[in-house]
Amino acid sequence: MAPSRESSSLSSLSPPPEDIRSQTSHDSPAQEAEAEVELVAKTAGNRRGQKRKVETTLKNSKRVKKAIKYEEDAESEAKEPPKHKGLSTKKARVEEASVDEVMAEAEEGNDGGAKVKKVQRKRTTSKKQTNLAALEQRTLDTKLRVGAHSQRKWDNPPMDPEHGALFIDGCKKHGIDPADSCLPHGSYLVNLAHPEESRKKQAYDSFHDDLTRCHKLGIRLYNFHPGNCNATTREDGIRLIAEHINTAHKDPATGSVVAVLETMASLGNTIGGTFKDLAEVINLVNNKKRVGVCLDTCHIFAAGYDLRTPDAYAETMSTFDEVIGLKYLKALHMNDSKSPFTSYRDLHAQIGTGYLGLRAFHNIVNDERLHGLPMVLETPIDSKDGKGKKIEDKSIWAREIKLLEKLVGMDVESEEFQKLEAELQDRGKSERERVGDQVERKKAKAKGMKEKGKGKAKSKKADSEDETSDEE
Ligand SMILES: [Zn+2]
Repeated sequence: MAPSRESSSLSSLSPPPEDIRSQTSHDSPAQEAEAEVELVAKTAGNRRGQKRKVETTLKNSKRVKKAIKYEEDAESEAKEPPKHKGLSTKKARVEEASVDEVMAEAEEGNDGGAKVKKVQRKRTTSKKQTNLAALEQRTLDTKLRVGAHSQRKWDNPPMDPEHGALFIDGCKKHGIDPADSCLPHGSYLVNLAHPEESRKKQAYDSFHDDLTRCHKLGIRLYNFHPGNCNATTREDGIRLIAEHINTAHKDPATGSVVAVLETMASLGNTIGGTFKDLAEVINLVNNKKRVGVCLDTCHIFAAGYDLRTPDAYAETMSTFDEVIGLKYLKALHMNDSKSPFTSYRDLHAQIGTGYLGLRAFHNIVNDERLHGLPMVLETPIDSKDGKGKKIEDKSIWAREIKLLEKLVGMDVESEEFQKLEAELQDRGKSERERVGDQVERKKAKAKGMKEKGKGKAKSKKADSEDETSDEE
């Protein structure tokens, strides 16, 4: 599996992969979403039978609110009945009369960090967009498949130049900047911390190939799980990851793509379960402009970083800043957690239905330091059709995008917020209880084992993570 080192001409573009992450850019409102539908329709042939996730970029509150407004207008015209209770689109009204508001926009600084730039904006919402479907419709299946390969297979077929060209042209045509609106996800199989030569090469080749594909497509951020040190020491594992990143950076074929390390849910031999792990990798990377972190809300919560109250959130973010540095925060994975705080389990839940709850997401989307960063949904969308058959209900993502947008500027004391919060918590109650009980039983068992001296408190399973998890 030799890494591709061709030039970045369109003819050498490789394929939109079987299951690269899909992404909905909210970089700009309405029009782009339609554009994306178009693009996806053209690449749909490649996406059969794959488990897919929608990645959603929530750009900044200015655009976000504009999109909401457009959506409302369109919706009242389309008179489309909401499909889910509690997240009724009719309730999605964000009041925003013309106001002057200080907004923060992230701007890429020369040091590679996100500088926050204050800009004064006059917001007017009287504009009415016509001929727009409701947001739910527009975001339905609006997924871009961009470079890289299957997340669960080593097989890595070359990129079809046509698909690459389609992606690039589509982005250009619709004003989407893939550089900061796209965040593909690396393969789960790749462990850059593996010390054994052949495994090491396989992991590096795959990592390198992904980076070159991103570069060819104009994508600047590449998210991956750091790896695990099952076969070596933590110190060596961290050193190996940084070495691979350094080696890849030296190859011009990887352009200026940033290696974005994801925060992980579990401890044990997993690397990235603590902010310290990631800081240590970053410390060993020579080109600091090309390394960053993606904060997964479900993962860090499970790993013991709380986000639920404004104080807890502030403390977690200040720990992040002290240990890693906020300038390295390049993106977020927005997931609620079916598993309790410090359970070290990676079980994604729909926004507001898990142990994190709606307030955690309210804290995040109202943090101006994060405005402009890509935010990606990796929430479960399993549902049942009329006959009880299991299906994927992609409209769930559309509603979650809207929900997150709606939280910007919303008063947590308002009736609207509290009603939403209660409805969502109610919806996730049985799953929280089921997983919560499981976690309690496991803890009790581990404690019993420890007391009897029959086992180690840290089970191997925690490292390999749960098979039933929706881990990402
Ligand atoms: Zn994630």
